[in-house]
Amino acid sequence: MKKGIHPEIKDCTVTCACGNTFTCKSTKEEINVEICSECHPFYTGKQSRSSRAGRVDKFNKKYGFDKKEAA
Ligand SMILES: [Zn+2]
Repeated sequence: MKKGIHPEIKDCTVTCACGNTFTCKSTKEEINVEICSECHPFYTGKQSRSSRAGRVDKFNKKYGFDKKEAA
């Protein structure tokens, strides 16, 4: 590696708003995040598919996309 152009890599403590902490490598020593893999619905699976579909349905209804077009 070329000297003088690479930032220093440190052990980094990542703190999430949900209280979860974990370590990684970064140029910063501390990172605060609002969401992590412990609390994101994608990983927890707590958010149901139906609730997401509900938002789409709402949008479709609002703009009339749910109605079949007249032939
Ligand atoms: Zn979290």
